[in-house]
Amino acid sequence: MSISLIQEQTKELAQLAAKVNGRIIQPGDAAYDDARAVWNGMIDRQPAGIVQAVNVNDVAAVVNFARENDLLLSVRGGGHQVAGHAVNDGGIVLDLSQMRQVVVDTDAKIAHAAGGALIADIDQATQPYGLAAVMGVMSETGVAGLTLGGGFGHLRNKFGLSCDNLIEVEMVLADGRIVIANAQENSDLFWGIRGGGGNFGVVTRFSYQLHEIGTELYTMAVFHDGRRAEEAVRIFRDYCLNAPDEISVLLAMGIFPPIDHFPAELHGEPFVLILGAYVGDVAEGGQVTAPLRTFQEPLLDFSGVMPYLDLQTFFDEDYPAGELRYYWKSLNITDLSDDAIRILVQHASQQPSILSTTDIWHIGGAVQRVADDATAFHGRHVSFLVNPEANWKNPEEDAMNMRWAQTMLEALRPFSDGSRYLNFAGFQEEGDAMMQDAFADKYQRLAELKAKYDPTNLFSLNQNIKPAQL
Ligand code: FAD
Repeated sequence: MSISLIQEQTKELAQLAAKVNGRIIQPGDAAYDDARAVWNGMIDRQPAGIVQAVNVNDVAAVVNFARENDLLLSVRGGGHQVAGHAVNDGGIVLDLSQMRQVVVDTDAKIAHAAGGALIADIDQATQPYGLAAVMGVMSETGVAGLTLGGGFGHLRNKFGLSCDNLIEVEMVLADGRIVIANAQENSDLFWGIRGGGGNFGVVTRFSYQLHEIGTELYTMAVFHDGRRAEEAVRIFRDYCLNAPDEISVLLAMGIFPPIDHFPAELHGEPFVLILGAYVGDVAEGGQVTAPLRTFQEPLLDFSGVMPYLDLQTFFDEDYPAGELRYYWKSLNITDLSDDAIRILVQHASQQPSILSTTDIWHIGGAVQRVADDATAFHGRHVSFLVNPEANWKNPEEDAMNMRWAQTMLEALRPFSDGSRYLNFAGFQEEGDAMMQDAFADKYQRLAELKAKYDPTNLFSLNQNIKPAQL
């Protein structure tokens, strides 16, 4: 950035300071480096200003300011998107990290979460009442990015995606208006934000339907021998296709890291982890999951009754913020045939980093019962989502690790229609082509919605849908 541009932007930010209650952090401020850091250690961006909004009026002021001054704008929820779109170089970051309040209406069984809330905030607010919102599986993730992109979690097959459980949002549009969107009011917008990401405005409140699940669930967490991964994935596939809605299963292939949590003789050995929580009677959970725990003698079996809050934080320490480099991608698999499994396992076993895994999410039950055209989210038509997670430390190994994930998905392309989960979309290098594949025949409707609500593409730093030329 040139000196004159910095001076100009500093002047503009001083004007903004008069309009917001939140703090504005700029280069040189002691808090700057912390405020610009996001979860993925690969991302190192230098915004001109970070505005830590504290209420919806602050959000509207920042949106108006960015639009009127033609400034690059990014929106930060939990900062956990792999591509790091929450931050930018030289523009304004609208940071919602100070807006994390969650209010629970126990009578209506609804949680109202501010736009910067993390999954942990919702879980902690709802669990004292035995209630839960449908969230993702790692508690430090932001509810905003998660929900706007869809939202897969341990409760998905019983209750649907996070976005399926959204009742209403309050949001700030590109023109600065503060609106409500629900099934009756601005229903087109409500359709678009359930899967269409941050393209249509900044959500300042998410209201979710809650479910009575109690505070403990039977949780399956069983490690099988990774040398027999092909067999394990075939058994997992067949099991999932006939599984009750109460269980949502995730399979992960990886390598035991050298940590005390695992016996020394397993360090460096390949594993297949099968993980799932049973929403219902815990004894029943043990029986229902038995086929996946006992089809062979497991290497380790941590299954049992677990507090829901422990389940929701089970993965937290595996994904430290800022310390590692991350590249997560995905592909919907329309045909998880034996051939597809052979190719998948072969690629998975070539992971260059011991920290990586290859995950297969089962999608079924309530997710698939929602009509495909009811939300912008596209991906209910498949039963399996493959998600290579490349996680590594050394910057010199960036290319090798990213290539591993890309090569796996290229090899699986014949078993897919090209759609994928946009919350696991790497750096979205494929651009518009990826977006069209991801939304298929919903893309045009989304592009028209974008033209209506954000014709100048003010919200461009996201899984971006270009406004249709109307
Ligand atoms: P941010 O990086 O803050 O934001 C990402 C984008 O969302 C922004 O660029 C912006 O476009 C938009 N955005 C953010 N806040 C708002 C807002 N208030 N209004 C409008 N737009 C906004 N996904 C699952 O489905 N299930 C999982 O179990 C799961 N686990 C994960 C675990 C980890 C460790 C990580 C890193 C990711 C996981 N994900 C999961 C993917 C996750 O859903 C996405 O990374 C998501 O984008 C994170 O949301 P965020 O608010 O933290 O992201």
